[in-house]
Amino acid sequence: MNPSSNSAGLSSTLSSLKNLIALSNDVLSVTPSPPTLNTNLIQCPFSPHHLIPPHALFLHHLRCPSSPRPLPDLTHSLTYPQTLHNSPSDQLSFYLHSLSNFFYRDCPAVVSFSPADALTRTATLTLPAFLSLECADTDTHSNLIPLSHHAPILPSHYFSIARELQAWNDFPTTFSNSVLRAISGLGIANEHHLMDWIIANSPRYGVVVDTAMQQHMFLLCCLCLKSIIREASVSTESQNAHVICPVSNQALTWLAYQVSILYGAANGKGFVLNFLKHCITVGASVLLLFPLEDQGASKHESKNLDKESVDMKDVKPAAPVAEKKNSILNRKIFVSQVAAAVAALHERSLFEQKIKGFWFSQQPSNYQLYVLFPLHNLSISLS
Ligand SMILES: [Zn+2]
Repeated sequence: MNPSSNSAGLSSTLSSLKNLIALSNDVLSVTPSPPTLNTNLIQCPFSPHHLIPPHALFLHHLRCPSSPRPLPDLTHSLTYPQTLHNSPSDQLSFYLHSLSNFFYRDCPAVVSFSPADALTRTATLTLPAFLSLECADTDTHSNLIPLSHHAPILPSHYFSIARELQAWNDFPTTFSNSVLRAISGLGIANEHHLMDWIIANSPRYGVVVDTAMQQHMFLLCCLCLKSIIREASVSTESQNAHVICPVSNQALTWLAYQVSILYGAANGKGFVLNFLKHCITVGASVLLLFPLEDQGASKHESKNLDKESVDMKDVKPAAPVAEKKNSILNRKIFVSQVAAAVAALHERSLFEQKIKGFWFSQQPSNYQLYVLFPLHNLSISLS
Protein backbone atom coordinates (compact mmCIF):
# COMPACT_ATOMS: atom_id res chain seq x y z
CA MET A 1 0.00 0.00 0.00
CA ASN A 2 1.49 3.37 -0.99
CA PRO A 3 1.80 6.36 1.42
CA SER A 4 -0.98 8.30 -0.28
CA SER A 5 -3.49 5.48 0.22
CA ASN A 6 -2.33 5.19 3.86
CA SER A 7 -2.98 8.87 4.31
CA ALA A 8 -6.39 8.58 2.68
CA GLY A 9 -7.25 5.66 4.97
CA LEU A 10 -6.17 7.61 8.04
CA SER A 11 -8.18 10.61 6.94
CA SER A 12 -11.21 8.42 6.36
CA THR A 13 -10.83 6.79 9.81
CA LEU A 14 -10.49 10.20 11.44
CA SER A 15 -13.56 11.42 9.63
CA SER A 16 -15.52 8.33 10.76
CA LEU A 17 -14.45 8.88 14.34
CA LYS A 18 -15.52 12.53 14.21
CA ASN A 19 -18.89 11.47 12.82
CA LEU A 20 -19.21 8.87 15.57
CA ILE A 21 -18.45 11.46 18.27
CA ALA A 22 -20.98 13.87 16.73
CA LEU A 23 -23.57 11.08 16.60
CA SER A 24 -22.86 10.13 20.24
CA ASN A 25 -23.32 13.75 21.28
CA ASP A 26 -26.62 13.86 19.41
CA VAL A 27 -27.80 10.66 21.12
CA LEU A 28 -26.78 11.96 24.55
CA SER A 29 -28.53 15.25 23.91
CA VAL A 30 -31.87 13.52 23.26
CA THR A 31 -31.47 10.80 25.91
CA PRO A 32 -33.68 11.42 28.93
CA SER A 33 -31.75 12.73 31.88
CA PRO A 34 -31.14 10.33 34.75
CA PRO A 35 -33.31 10.90 37.79
CA THR A 36 -32.22 13.90 39.77
CA LEU A 37 -32.58 14.61 43.44
CA ASN A 38 -34.76 17.62 42.87
CA THR A 39 -36.07 17.65 46.40
CA ASN A 40 -35.80 21.37 47.05
CA LEU A 41 -39.53 21.89 46.79
CA ILE A 42 -42.32 19.33 46.89
CA GLN A 43 -45.87 19.80 45.71
CA CYS A 44 -48.47 19.81 48.46
CA PRO A 45 -50.93 16.91 47.98
CA PHE A 46 -53.86 19.33 48.29
CA SER A 47 -52.79 22.04 45.88
CA PRO A 48 -50.31 22.01 42.99
CA HIS A 49 -49.68 25.70 43.71
CA HIS A 50 -48.19 24.96 47.15
CA LEU A 51 -44.49 24.14 46.72
CA ILE A 52 -42.97 23.30 50.07
CA PRO A 53 -39.44 22.43 51.32
CA PRO A 54 -39.29 18.70 52.22
CA HIS A 55 -38.78 19.17 55.95
CA ALA A 56 -41.85 21.45 56.17
CA LEU A 57 -44.25 19.42 54.01
CA PHE A 58 -45.66 17.30 56.85
CA LEU A 59 -46.74 20.24 59.02
CA HIS A 60 -47.94 22.15 55.98
CA HIS A 61 -50.21 19.34 54.82
CA LEU A 62 -51.82 19.20 58.27
CA ARG A 63 -52.52 22.92 58.25
CA CYS A 64 -53.04 23.41 54.52
CA PRO A 65 -56.07 25.64 53.83
CA SER A 66 -56.89 23.45 50.83
CA SER A 67 -57.12 20.27 52.95
CA PRO A 68 -60.59 18.94 53.85
CA ARG A 69 -60.19 20.38 57.38
CA PRO A 70 -56.98 22.09 58.58
CA LEU A 71 -55.63 20.46 61.72
CA PRO A 72 -53.79 21.89 64.71
CA ASP A 73 -50.22 20.76 65.34
CA LEU A 74 -50.70 17.31 66.87
CA THR A 75 -47.13 16.17 66.46
CA HIS A 76 -46.18 16.88 70.09
CA SER A 77 -48.01 13.67 70.99
CA LEU A 78 -45.86 11.48 68.78
CA THR A 79 -43.19 9.41 70.47
CA TYR A 80 -41.20 8.24 67.46
CA PRO A 81 -39.23 11.50 67.06
CA GLN A 82 -37.76 10.74 70.51
CA THR A 83 -36.99 7.07 69.86
CA LEU A 84 -35.01 8.08 66.81
CA HIS A 85 -32.06 8.98 69.04
CA ASN A 86 -32.99 7.02 72.13
CA SER A 87 -34.12 3.45 71.58
CA PRO A 88 -33.71 1.73 74.96
CA SER A 89 -35.18 -1.68 74.08
CA ASP A 90 -34.91 -4.22 71.30
CA GLN A 91 -38.49 -5.37 71.98
CA LEU A 92 -41.20 -4.04 69.69
CA SER A 93 -43.80 -4.36 72.47
CA PHE A 94 -41.80 -1.93 74.63
CA TYR A 95 -42.44 0.89 72.15
CA LEU A 96 -46.00 -0.08 71.27
CA HIS A 97 -47.03 -0.15 74.92
CA SER A 98 -46.47 3.60 75.17
CA LEU A 99 -48.98 4.19 72.37
CA SER A 100 -51.94 2.88 74.32
CA ASN A 101 -52.94 6.39 75.32
CA PHE A 102 -52.65 9.30 73.00
CA PHE A 103 -52.88 12.88 74.20
CA TYR A 104 -54.05 15.71 72.02
CA ARG A 105 -53.09 19.24 72.94
CA ASP A 106 -56.13 21.31 73.91
CA CYS A 107 -58.17 18.14 74.05
CA PRO A 108 -60.22 17.85 77.27
CA ALA A 109 -59.52 14.15 77.74
CA VAL A 110 -57.27 11.34 76.76
CA VAL A 111 -58.19 9.93 73.39
CA SER A 112 -58.01 6.20 73.77
CA PHE A 113 -56.35 4.23 71.00
CA SER A 114 -57.91 0.83 71.11
CA PRO A 115 -56.03 -0.24 67.95
CA ALA A 116 -52.79 0.50 69.85
CA ASP A 117 -53.80 -1.88 72.64
CA ALA A 118 -54.46 -4.56 70.07
CA LEU A 119 -51.14 -3.87 68.40
CA THR A 120 -49.25 -4.29 71.66
CA ARG A 121 -50.67 -7.78 71.94
CA THR A 122 -50.37 -8.89 68.33
CA ALA A 123 -47.59 -7.06 66.48
CA THR A 124 -44.32 -8.92 66.18
CA LEU A 125 -40.94 -8.27 64.70
CA THR A 126 -38.91 -11.06 63.15
CA LEU A 127 -35.36 -10.40 62.09
CA PRO A 128 -34.15 -13.03 59.59
CA ALA A 129 -30.60 -14.34 60.04
CA PHE A 130 -29.30 -12.49 56.98
CA LEU A 131 -30.48 -9.17 58.49
CA SER A 132 -29.37 -10.03 62.01
CA LEU A 133 -25.93 -10.43 60.48
CA GLU A 134 -25.98 -6.74 59.58
CA CYS A 135 -26.79 -5.49 63.08
CA ALA A 136 -23.76 -4.32 65.03
CA ASP A 137 -24.91 -5.72 68.39
CA THR A 138 -25.79 -9.31 67.50
CA ASP A 139 -23.65 -12.41 68.09
CA THR A 140 -23.74 -13.15 64.39
CA HIS A 141 -22.70 -9.64 63.32
CA SER A 142 -20.17 -9.57 60.56
CA ASN A 143 -18.42 -6.54 59.12
CA LEU A 144 -19.12 -5.98 55.48
CA ILE A 145 -16.45 -7.24 53.15
CA PRO A 146 -14.91 -4.03 51.78
CA LEU A 147 -14.82 -4.05 48.02
CA SER A 148 -11.21 -3.53 47.02
CA HIS A 149 -11.99 -2.49 43.47
CA HIS A 150 -14.90 -0.55 42.05
CA ALA A 151 -15.02 -1.02 38.30
CA PRO A 152 -15.95 2.23 36.56
CA ILE A 153 -19.23 2.43 34.70
CA LEU A 154 -19.35 3.84 31.18
CA PRO A 155 -22.24 6.11 30.17
CA SER A 156 -23.50 3.38 27.81
CA HIS A 157 -23.58 0.93 30.74
CA TYR A 158 -25.31 3.55 32.87
CA PHE A 159 -28.19 3.75 30.41
CA SER A 160 -28.35 -0.03 30.01
CA ILE A 161 -28.66 -0.25 33.81
CA ALA A 162 -31.45 2.33 33.68
CA ARG A 163 -33.24 0.23 31.03
CA GLU A 164 -32.84 -2.93 33.11
CA LEU A 165 -34.29 -1.19 36.16
CA GLN A 166 -37.21 0.16 34.15
CA ALA A 167 -38.18 -3.39 33.22
CA TRP A 168 -38.51 -4.48 36.86
CA ASN A 169 -42.13 -4.83 37.90
CA ASP A 170 -41.34 -6.99 40.88
CA PHE A 171 -38.42 -7.60 43.22
CA PRO A 172 -35.63 -9.08 41.11
CA THR A 173 -34.44 -12.67 41.46
CA THR A 174 -31.33 -12.08 39.36
CA PHE A 175 -28.97 -9.16 38.77
CA SER A 176 -26.92 -8.45 35.65
CA ASN A 177 -23.22 -7.79 36.10
CA SER A 178 -23.77 -4.10 35.39
CA VAL A 179 -26.35 -3.86 38.17
CA LEU A 180 -23.99 -5.71 40.52
CA ARG A 181 -21.34 -3.07 39.88
CA ALA A 182 -23.88 -0.31 40.53
CA ILE A 183 -24.76 -1.99 43.84
CA SER A 184 -21.09 -1.98 44.80
CA GLY A 185 -21.11 1.79 44.14
CA LEU A 186 -24.19 2.12 46.32
CA GLY A 187 -22.14 1.01 49.31
CA ILE A 188 -20.00 4.14 49.12
CA ALA A 189 -22.67 6.61 48.00
CA ASN A 190 -23.54 9.47 50.28
CA GLU A 191 -26.62 8.48 52.31
CA HIS A 192 -28.23 11.86 51.82
CA HIS A 193 -28.57 11.21 48.09
CA LEU A 194 -30.65 8.16 49.02
CA MET A 195 -32.58 9.38 52.05
CA ASP A 196 -34.03 12.50 50.40
CA TRP A 197 -35.97 10.27 48.00
CA ILE A 198 -38.15 8.98 50.83
CA ILE A 199 -39.61 12.30 51.94
CA ALA A 200 -39.91 13.59 48.38
CA ASN A 201 -41.70 10.54 46.97
CA SER A 202 -43.77 9.35 49.93
CA PRO A 203 -46.83 11.46 48.95
CA ARG A 204 -47.06 9.43 45.71
CA TYR A 205 -47.80 6.43 47.91
CA GLY A 206 -50.50 8.16 49.92
CA VAL A 207 -48.63 9.34 53.02
CA VAL A 208 -46.74 12.56 53.79
CA VAL A 209 -43.91 11.79 56.20
CA ASP A 210 -41.92 14.04 58.51
CA THR A 211 -38.14 13.96 58.84
CA ALA A 212 -38.17 11.71 61.93
CA MET A 213 -40.29 9.12 60.11
CA GLN A 214 -38.05 9.48 57.09
CA GLN A 215 -34.99 8.63 59.18
CA HIS A 216 -36.67 5.65 60.87
CA MET A 217 -37.62 4.29 57.46
CA PHE A 218 -34.20 4.92 56.03
CA LEU A 219 -32.64 2.90 58.84
CA LEU A 220 -34.74 -0.12 57.81
CA CYS A 221 -33.82 0.51 54.18
CA CYS A 222 -30.11 0.62 55.08
CA LEU A 223 -30.38 -2.67 56.93
CA CYS A 224 -31.72 -4.32 53.79
CA LEU A 225 -29.30 -2.52 51.48
CA LYS A 226 -26.40 -3.79 53.59
CA SER A 227 -27.47 -7.38 52.97
CA ILE A 228 -27.97 -6.63 49.25
CA ILE A 229 -24.49 -5.10 49.03
CA ARG A 230 -23.02 -8.08 50.88
CA GLU A 231 -24.62 -10.53 48.48
CA ALA A 232 -23.47 -8.45 45.50
CA SER A 233 -19.91 -8.26 46.84
CA VAL A 234 -19.52 -12.03 46.63
CA SER A 235 -21.18 -12.19 43.21
CA THR A 236 -19.18 -9.54 41.35
CA GLU A 237 -16.44 -12.05 40.50
CA SER A 238 -18.95 -14.24 38.69
CA GLN A 239 -18.42 -14.61 34.95
CA ASN A 240 -22.11 -15.20 34.34
CA ALA A 241 -24.13 -12.46 32.65
CA HIS A 242 -26.74 -12.78 35.40
CA VAL A 243 -26.41 -14.01 38.97
CA ILE A 244 -29.24 -15.09 41.22
CA CYS A 245 -29.84 -12.93 44.29
CA PRO A 246 -32.05 -14.84 46.77
CA VAL A 247 -30.94 -12.85 49.83
CA SER A 248 -31.67 -9.53 48.13
CA ASN A 249 -35.10 -10.75 47.13
CA GLN A 250 -35.89 -11.85 50.69
CA ALA A 251 -34.51 -8.62 52.16
CA LEU A 252 -36.75 -6.56 49.87
CA THR A 253 -39.76 -8.70 50.74
CA TRP A 254 -39.03 -8.18 54.46
CA LEU A 255 -38.68 -4.41 53.95
CA ALA A 256 -41.90 -4.21 51.94
CA TYR A 257 -43.71 -6.06 54.73
CA GLN A 258 -42.53 -3.49 57.29
CA VAL A 259 -43.25 -0.48 55.09
CA SER A 260 -46.73 -1.81 54.29
CA ILE A 261 -47.63 -1.18 57.95
CA LEU A 262 -47.92 2.48 56.96
CA TYR A 263 -48.54 2.39 53.21
CA GLY A 264 -50.60 -0.77 52.75
CA ALA A 265 -49.39 -3.84 50.86
CA ALA A 266 -49.59 -2.57 47.26
CA ASN A 267 -48.18 0.89 47.93
CA GLY A 268 -45.55 -0.51 50.30
CA LYS A 269 -44.23 -2.87 47.66
CA GLY A 270 -44.22 -0.16 45.01
CA PHE A 271 -42.44 2.19 47.38
CA VAL A 272 -39.65 -0.33 48.10
CA LEU A 273 -39.24 -1.34 44.45
CA ASN A 274 -38.89 2.25 43.26
CA PHE A 275 -36.60 3.14 46.15
CA LEU A 276 -34.36 0.22 45.17
CA LYS A 277 -34.28 1.47 41.56
CA HIS A 278 -33.30 4.91 42.78
CA CYS A 279 -30.55 3.49 45.01
CA ILE A 280 -29.03 1.43 42.19
CA THR A 281 -29.12 4.47 39.92
CA VAL A 282 -27.27 6.49 42.55
CA GLY A 283 -24.75 3.63 42.94
CA ALA A 284 -24.16 3.66 39.18
CA SER A 285 -23.72 7.44 39.24
CA VAL A 286 -21.00 7.16 41.88
CA LEU A 287 -18.92 4.91 39.62
CA LEU A 288 -19.67 6.72 36.39
CA LEU A 289 -16.45 7.22 34.42
CA PHE A 290 -17.56 10.58 33.07
CA PRO A 291 -19.87 12.22 35.63
CA LEU A 292 -23.09 13.52 34.13
CA GLU A 293 -24.18 17.10 34.45
CA ASP A 294 -27.04 16.02 36.66
CA GLN A 295 -24.67 14.91 39.35
CA GLY A 296 -23.55 18.50 39.68
CA ALA A 297 -27.18 19.52 39.85
CA SER A 298 -27.84 16.87 42.47
CA LYS A 299 -25.00 18.17 44.54
CA HIS A 300 -26.23 21.71 44.22
CA GLU A 301 -29.78 20.77 45.16
CA SER A 302 -28.69 18.65 48.08
CA LYS A 303 -26.64 21.45 49.51
CA ASN A 304 -29.71 23.16 50.85
CA LEU A 305 -30.68 20.00 52.66
CA ASP A 306 -27.34 18.98 54.02
CA LYS A 307 -24.31 21.18 54.38
CA GLU A 308 -22.09 18.13 54.71
CA SER A 309 -22.97 16.69 51.34
CA VAL A 310 -19.97 15.15 49.65
CA ASP A 311 -19.25 16.09 46.07
CA MET A 312 -19.84 12.96 44.02
CA LYS A 313 -17.17 14.13 41.60
CA ASP A 314 -14.67 13.57 44.41
CA VAL A 315 -15.11 9.88 43.78
CA LYS A 316 -12.42 8.69 41.40
CA PRO A 317 -13.98 5.68 39.73
CA ALA A 318 -10.92 4.13 38.18
CA ALA A 319 -8.92 4.28 41.41
CA PRO A 320 -9.56 2.39 44.63
CA VAL A 321 -12.42 4.33 46.20
CA ALA A 322 -12.27 5.33 49.83
CA GLU A 323 -15.42 4.68 51.79
CA LYS A 324 -17.38 7.82 52.36
CA LYS A 325 -18.07 9.12 55.81
CA ASN A 326 -21.86 9.06 55.43
CA SER A 327 -22.09 5.83 53.48
CA ILE A 328 -24.19 2.74 54.09
CA LEU A 329 -21.03 0.69 54.57
CA ASN A 330 -20.01 2.88 57.49
CA ARG A 331 -23.40 3.03 59.19
CA LYS A 332 -23.84 0.95 62.34
CA ILE A 333 -27.34 -0.40 62.96
CA PHE A 334 -28.53 -1.81 66.28
CA VAL A 335 -31.46 -4.16 66.86
CA SER A 336 -33.07 -1.64 69.23
CA GLN A 337 -33.09 0.92 66.39
CA VAL A 338 -34.79 -1.58 64.10
CA ALA A 339 -37.47 -2.26 66.74
CA ALA A 340 -37.96 1.49 67.28
CA ALA A 341 -38.27 2.05 63.53
CA VAL A 342 -40.92 -0.67 63.10
CA ALA A 343 -42.79 0.73 66.12
CA ALA A 344 -42.58 4.16 64.49
CA LEU A 345 -44.31 2.78 61.39
CA HIS A 346 -47.10 1.40 63.57
CA GLU A 347 -47.44 4.69 65.46
CA ARG A 348 -47.43 6.74 62.27
CA SER A 349 -50.04 4.42 60.78
CA LEU A 350 -52.35 5.01 63.76
CA PHE A 351 -51.73 8.73 63.49
CA GLU A 352 -52.51 8.63 59.78
CA GLN A 353 -55.81 6.90 60.49
CA LYS A 354 -56.67 9.64 62.98
CA ILE A 355 -55.81 12.37 60.48
CA LYS A 356 -57.85 10.83 57.69
CA GLY A 357 -60.70 10.06 60.06
CA PHE A 358 -60.77 13.73 61.07
CA TRP A 359 -60.61 14.95 57.50
CA PHE A 360 -63.26 12.62 56.19
CA SER A 361 -65.67 12.54 59.09
CA GLN A 362 -67.63 15.05 56.99
CA GLN A 363 -68.37 12.85 54.01
CA PRO A 364 -65.74 13.77 51.39
CA SER A 365 -66.57 13.55 47.72
CA ASN A 366 -65.49 10.47 45.83
CA TYR A 367 -63.20 12.69 43.82
CA GLN A 368 -61.39 13.86 46.98
CA LEU A 369 -60.91 10.28 48.12
CA TYR A 370 -59.57 9.18 44.78
CA VAL A 371 -57.21 12.08 44.28
CA LEU A 372 -55.78 12.21 47.80
CA PHE A 373 -55.50 8.62 48.88
CA PRO A 374 -55.78 6.34 45.89
CA LEU A 375 -54.88 3.01 47.50
CA HIS A 376 -55.24 3.71 51.15
CA ASN A 377 -57.74 2.06 53.44
CA LEU A 378 -60.38 4.68 53.83
CA SER A 379 -62.86 2.82 55.97
CA ILE A 380 -61.82 4.88 58.98
CA SER A 381 -63.82 6.84 61.47
CA LEU A 382 -62.93 8.89 64.51
CA SER A 383 -63.03 6.88 67.73
ZN1 LIG B 1 -51.06 22.90 50.70
